[in-house]
Amino acid sequence: MELSIVIPVYNESDNISPLLREIEQALAPRDDYEIIVVDDCSTDGTSAQLQALRRERPRLRVILHSENRGQSMALISGVRNARADWITTLDGDGQNDPADILRLIQARDGAPGGINLIAGIRRRRQDDWVKRLSSRIANRVRGGLLGDRFPDTGCGIKLFPRQAFLELPHFDHMHRFLPALFRRQGWNVIGVEVGHRPRMAGTSKYGTFDRLRVGVVDLLGVMWLLRRPCEVRTEEWIE
Ligand code: UDP
Ligand code: MG
Repeated sequence: MELSIVIPVYNESDNISPLLREIEQALAPRDDYEIIVVDDCSTDGTSAQLQALRRERPRLRVILHSENRGQSMALISGVRNARADWITTLDGDGQNDPADILRLIQARDGAPGGINLIAGIRRRRQDDWVKRLSSRIANRVRGGLLGDRFPDTGCGIKLFPRQAFLELPHFDHMHRFLPALFRRQGWNVIGVEVGHRPRMAGTSKYGTFDRLRVGVVDLLGVMWLLRRPCEVRTEEWIE
């Protein structure tokens, strides 16, 4: 098993089936991957759909949260239970293009050694103007305060080694800070331009104002973490 694709979903019942089909098409003829969908306690029938989809798809694995715990916790559950050494994350609403998974893998294979996060940068955002504007401001402020030199940390498509992710500090909303958290450990971050599409169906799970409200607390928390760096270095053993 080379790759685990981890998809957090909360009320994405109209999106999940077409998305799985697209992933299978994009990755054919590879057969070295699994798909882990983490259902973050959906209330719209997503879990019943996943049960049915699983019956015809041996490579699909489903984790059910017993309460809604948020996108980051859904990712953490998926990565913990993944069987491959490399993880790709993807949003469950179809905004990321599964064909970009192969572009991230290509970038990884051409990258220097060591631990790398390969993160998507959305080329043409397909969100409404309020979200585009608030996201641009948030990225500027975050980039300035954290100095993480990354233009778009909110993009859902990323590729990283499973073990590296498990060594990061884990907290709710951490998924928006992966470049800064990887750099904090002394690891590399590689940006790859990716496509972006309108949501296939359903609605966004984040409003502008709650994003801003929790965003300020998260920024302060990550600023503190960066002042307490914790680089992972190889230890020498005395035989
Ligand atoms: N999500 C989740 N739990 C939550 C909120 C969101 O698993 O509590 C999932 C959601 O279903 C989607 C992904 O996280 O697959 C990104 O959410 P969304 O598309 O609403 O965010 P946006 O693109 O609007 O920033
Ligand atoms: Mg989305």
